[in-house]
Amino acid sequence: MRMVDLIAKKRRGEAHTDAEIDFIISGYVDGIIPDYQMSAWMMAVCWQGMTESEVSRLTYAMMNSGDVVDLSDLSGIKVDKHSTGGVGDTTTLVIAPLVAACGGTVAKMSGRGLGRTGGTLDKLESVPGVVVEKDIDEFKDIVRKNGLCVIGQSGNLVPADKLMYALRDVTGTVESIPLIASSIMSKKLAAGTDAIVLDVKTGTGAFMKTVEDAKKLSETMVKIGNSLGRRTVAIMTDMDQPLGMAIGNGLEVKEAIDVLSGRISEDDPLYQVCMLLASNMLIVSGLAEDEADAAAKLTAALKEGRGFAKLEAMLTALGAEDTGYIIAHPESLCQVKKKVDVCLDGEGYICAMHAADIGNAAQMLGAGRAEKTDVIDPAVGLVMHKRMGDHVAAGEAVATMYVNDQSRLDAAIAVLKGAIELGADKPAPAPMVHGIVQ
Ligand code: URA
Ligand code: CA
Repeated sequence: MRMVDLIAKKRRGEAHTDAEIDFIISGYVDGIIPDYQMSAWMMAVCWQGMTESEVSRLTYAMMNSGDVVDLSDLSGIKVDKHSTGGVGDTTTLVIAPLVAACGGTVAKMSGRGLGRTGGTLDKLESVPGVVVEKDIDEFKDIVRKNGLCVIGQSGNLVPADKLMYALRDVTGTVESIPLIASSIMSKKLAAGTDAIVLDVKTGTGAFMKTVEDAKKLSETMVKIGNSLGRRTVAIMTDMDQPLGMAIGNGLEVKEAIDVLSGRISEDDPLYQVCMLLASNMLIVSGLAEDEADAAAKLTAALKEGRGFAKLEAMLTALGAEDTGYIIAHPESLCQVKKKVDVCLDGEGYICAMHAADIGNAAQMLGAGRAEKTDVIDPAVGLVMHKRMGDHVAAGEAVATMYVNDQSRLDAAIAVLKGAIELGADKPAPAPMVHGIVQ
């Protein structure tokens, strides 16, 4: 087999055999296929797409390019949740404890996100003492004891994705549904869970800008999961504005603690999306019959403080120095030199938000990495005071920035102001959830 022939085959829009896909992935990981051929092939995939069976085989080949975690010695159905990435998306820190409090087994490996805001690992590390690099045996012990654990992905999980993602990033080949779906699902499958709930974001702050694309990505990922024997459900949720009000690592941990301690109202979007995702995790785990049953169990766990206790137990297991203090005083995670209110020019109703730019503003303050080697400041970020459709009076603050480094404050303020549009009329409310694919 020659890579040049396979590139031409995909360029013509023909489907690969399993053996051809295996050849491409193992050849690339082994260094036999050079970057330029892999880039040309991925560009052909961007234009021509892949069949369902090609995407499943690609995912399978990627999954098997490195270690595959075996969780079969943990009892119960292991369930994982994955978000395709949004702004102010604090759901994991709320959901994992609540699902565990209802008897679920949440064994989750997270990647360290590059981009606008920190990933779940960065949020966890904003708690002093927490170490998210654990070996698999320690990870399993924590899950066995507490019903949940979130750690960093081990060194050799899906090396094919690490190489391909780095190449896609610099060759204009990120935006391809087969490549995104196989990238996400190979990592989820290699991490060893039995069931997967996907939160597929759509809108200005997401990879998928339209509901149609989000639906295609959801269907592709659900088919991959099911074809490889894992119960998979995808929920399409809105990312036309930040999900929670906090954007920043310590700030988001505080917001998660606020939800788990019942300090956030039930009509809050973050609360609602958390409940929907957690309900589906209980259903795919066989621990609830339907959404109503799941909601009753989750609400009881929340009200009785059992979710809260699970978060506390996990933080302690990960090495948090003084969990009791953090849980009682989450504001200690976001102590900064200066807080700055941000006002817009003019007044009116918020009729559009560019969620990605709101994330960029937080990143500029030090809450996220522009490059892999950047160091995150756990305390900084911003707290929104307004959502889509809210009225903003002249001189009223739309957000408060949490600042330690003044040097990029003005630029961050400019980006945030540019990310929010005011209009004279109140826009019709948009749905938070765009559908479920199973
Ligand atoms: N997240 C991933 O892990 N991979 C992609 O390709 C896109 C988003
Ligand atoms: Ca939308």
